[in-house]
Amino acid sequence: MSFSESDSSSTPTGVKPCRDRQATDSHFDSGELLFRRVLLGQFDQDGHVYPQAFIPDPVSVNRSRYSTALCVICASSCDLRKPSVDYKPVKMNVSALLKQPTIVLKHIPSPKNSSHCEIDSVENTRQARKVLRTHLSDHSHIVTNFIPCESFLAKM
Ligand SMILES: [Zn+2]
Repeated sequence: MSFSESDSSSTPTGVKPCRDRQATDSHFDSGELLFRRVLLGQFDQDGHVYPQAFIPDPVSVNRSRYSTALCVICASSCDLRKPSVDYKPVKMNVSALLKQPTIVLKHIPSPKNSSHCEIDSVENTRQARKVLRTHLSDHSHIVTNFIPCESFLAKM
């Protein structure tokens, strides 16, 4: 009973730890954020993410209800191909994404990462995939303020 109080003191209010086991949770709040890691070379000069950063689909993201932005560049919850510093986390607002009716969002938790989700198109056509990439590119913003995660481990 008391252990959860000391555990939660290092966890921001409302965010559940990324490494806790979590059942599939199909409800997304309109204010919830989705996080994705993007390689440094996939931003233009103004800090916008190129649509090519969202290949292949379905697009893997983490949701803010069960993780922080930092968790997308964490070696303990992700299989990072490059060092953590080679990526920048971006955020997308759930309500902005779901304004595009051809986009679907599914929570698919894994034992290593309870916040894992997939963004996909309703239709599996070239045009629908292009709409998806463009929409995600238009609605991604670089994360500048990081909430700490107690499980965070940088890949060197
Ligand atoms: Zn984490």
